Amino acid sequence: MSDCLFCRIVKGEIPAAKVYEDDEVLAFKDIHPQRPVHILVIPKKHITSLAHATEADTSALGRMLVVANQIAVDQGSPDGFRSIINTGHVGGQEVMHVHMHIVGGPEPVGPMLKR
Ligand code: 5GP
Ligand code: ZN
Repeated sequence: MSDCLFCRIVKGEIPAAKVYEDDEVLAFKDIHPQRPVHILVIPKKHITSLAHATEADTSALGRMLVVANQIAVDQGSPDGFRSIINTGHVGGQEVMHVHMHIVGGPEPVGPMLKR
């Protein structure tokens, strides 16, 4: 998807503060962090949202979950984190390329996040 913001980050056309990368996923700092640690984990392959995910996406989506804790620890959230995937209009998804927010830091993030 040439006009997709996060695909352009994957291709290196738009800069991002990358913190983790493997063959299936990329993680980088959110440009507007909501907490001391706020990382976005994305599949390198374009998947519009969880509403568009198929069986073929199982590996990449699973990998996003598997790498989350190590990213959180490395970034300064050693005692847990919140992971959020917003989907579609009701979920408040703004960038239409699946991404998991990893939100945390030294202190608990609280019962819910406000924008
Ligand atoms: P959503 O609301 O779709 O779940 O979250 C989109 C997130 O992407 C927001 O937290 C927003 O700050 C972040 N974001 C939007 N544009 C950029 C960008 O160009 N670079 C980075 N690093 N994050 C972005
Ligand atoms: Zn994309």
